[in-house]
Amino acid sequence: MKKLLLIPLLLWVGLAYCQKTIIYCGKLIDPAAGQVLTEMSVIVTGGTVTAVQKGYAAAAAGDKTIDLKNRTVMPGLIDSHVHLEQETSPNAQLREFTENTADIAFESTGYARTTLMAGFTTVRDVGGSGVNIALRNAIRKGLVVGPHVFTAGKIISSTGGHADPTHGYRDGLYAEPSFTETVADGKDACIKAVRQMYKEGADLIKITASGGVLSLEKDGSGAQFSDEELKAIVSTAKDYGMPVAAHAHGAEAMKRAIRAGVTSIEHGTYMDDEAIALFKQYGVWYVPTIIAGKSVADSAKKPGYYPPVIAGKAMAIGPVIQGTFARAYKAGVKIAFGTDAGVYKHGKNWMEFIYMTEAGMPALEAIKCATVNAAALVGVSDKAGTLEPGKWADIIAVEGDPTKDIHAMGQVRFVMKEGVVYKSE
Ligand SMILES: [Zn+2]
Repeated sequence: MKKLLLIPLLLWVGLAYCQKTIIYCGKLIDPAAGQVLTEMSVIVTGGTVTAVQKGYAAAAAGDKTIDLKNRTVMPGLIDSHVHLEQETSPNAQLREFTENTADIAFESTGYARTTLMAGFTTVRDVGGSGVNIALRNAIRKGLVVGPHVFTAGKIISSTGGHADPTHGYRDGLYAEPSFTETVADGKDACIKAVRQMYKEGADLIKITASGGVLSLEKDGSGAQFSDEELKAIVSTAKDYGMPVAAHAHGAEAMKRAIRAGVTSIEHGTYMDDEAIALFKQYGVWYVPTIIAGKSVADSAKKPGYYPPVIAGKAMAIGPVIQGTFARAYKAGVKIAFGTDAGVYKHGKNWMEFIYMTEAGMPALEAIKCATVNAAALVGVSDKAGTLEPGKWADIIAVEGDPTKDIHAMGQVRFVMKEGVVYKSE
């Protein structure tokens, strides 16, 4: 009796394993070639792309078909700068006193889902409480719906620096932050902080090389690590195969970080000509986050949204980034798409495309930044960024044609991640 049941079950499993899904694409963006192709078929087997071909391929018996003939299809998007643990709200500082780790974890699952549904199938989480590591693992196990996550865990900061988690607290409210919170001063502490992040399961290292906007410190742009500390961080991270992402608004901070060998500069607000030359000389990625600058400047106009020290910095620094992006792009700096999602509401990541094109970048180039380039920065070029045989079947489709109207990037109607359809409208 048992044998009789087993045979059809094995046949079924075998068929399901080999079953092809043929996706008919009215338009298909190839971001590597900078082309919009028409009437194409993408063939998916299991979780991977097995072929991309011209015309609408005939389906054999047992094949599944997905009709996206009236859509523009493209590889799943990649955001190289998100914070999945948090989302902007008035008086966000208060949450540090009211929320437990479990609260953060549950909230982050919602943000992860929203991000995937907006067409972002891969993200780099550049820092939080460390819950982002558990979130990544839960998504990988299939317990939570979300994009592929590559995470920095916690951010490494100097004492009183942008990511010192006890900034602005009154005396007696906190124990002195230690290496387990990745607040590090001096070469040895910096080495230990990197190793601590490796131990906790981070995929990359994130540092705050300069001051920042959304912390209770007065200076949003000055350098916050010495050359010696930066070199210790970068060389230790290299030992563990981890790239280093450096948050930097001020020019001196980004120059030090680039010379120390970081992989990317985040925000880059006050990039000057010397910094631009260094970006090119060292082949460092620039992750602009224009939307973050614009949205913190907008929120700062709402009375009471931020404490005054933050509001002032937000209004000064926020609006500058788009102009910096335009200069960097014109100068030929390597750019990877990143938005600082969480600083604004998750799911609106696509608005960065509007700001990039407003600043003079063609739509196809902006999409390349969010696919081919971001995949290279994240280190997943062999799995994501383009639709080619052997890569993840991370495929999205929008209504309209973003090369004609960039707002189409906000009209995501279809999302597939590793061959599984999460959205189909
Ligand atoms: Zn950020």
